[in-house]
Amino acid sequence: MHTQEKHKIDFSFREKLNGIAEGYRHNFCYQCGACVADCPAGMYSDHFNPRLILLKALLGFEDELIRPDSEIWDCTNCYTCAERCPQDVRPVDVIIALKNLCVRTGNAPELILKTSDPVLTSGITTKITSVVDRRRQEMGLAPVGTYPVDELKKITEGD
Ligand code: SF4
Ligand code: SF4
Repeated sequence: MHTQEKHKIDFSFREKLNGIAEGYRHNFCYQCGACVADCPAGMYSDHFNPRLILLKALLGFEDELIRPDSEIWDCTNCYTCAERCPQDVRPVDVIIALKNLCVRTGNAPELILKTSDPVLTSGITTKITSVVDRRRQEMGLAPVGTYPVDELKKITEGD
């Protein structure tokens, strides 16, 4: 958020976020900052701040949040912020909702899509090569099976 620049508050973004699973939680944030102190992404990044992400959501900074290089992709999904928040906002769930909005609008990073697409087609994130098969055999592990992805597709298509 650039404090020197003028930004018109866009309340319509709240409605957009409310339409994504768990996105409505951002409405309960009162900006106390309790989610920031123990956030590991915040500790190792100069620009990552869950309180600020929630503020951007409340003010409708869609152009900063919904993009492939948005700071939301630095969240580790550790859920520490969910334990700290006195308002039960569960900031991580709002961040996941923002990520889902990115995917829906074609704003997800390539790397994320490369990892998630195979899950929808094979149920696993890793390509199983003959080398992997051989190593598993050497370690006495069973071959990687096939997984039903129909249920998974139904879940990811719904809200
Ligand atoms: S889940 Fe919460 S505490 Fe963990 S990295 Fe993401 S914003 Fe920070
Ligand atoms: S702890 Fe909860 S209420 Fe406080 S700033 Fe973070 S998300 Fe908002």
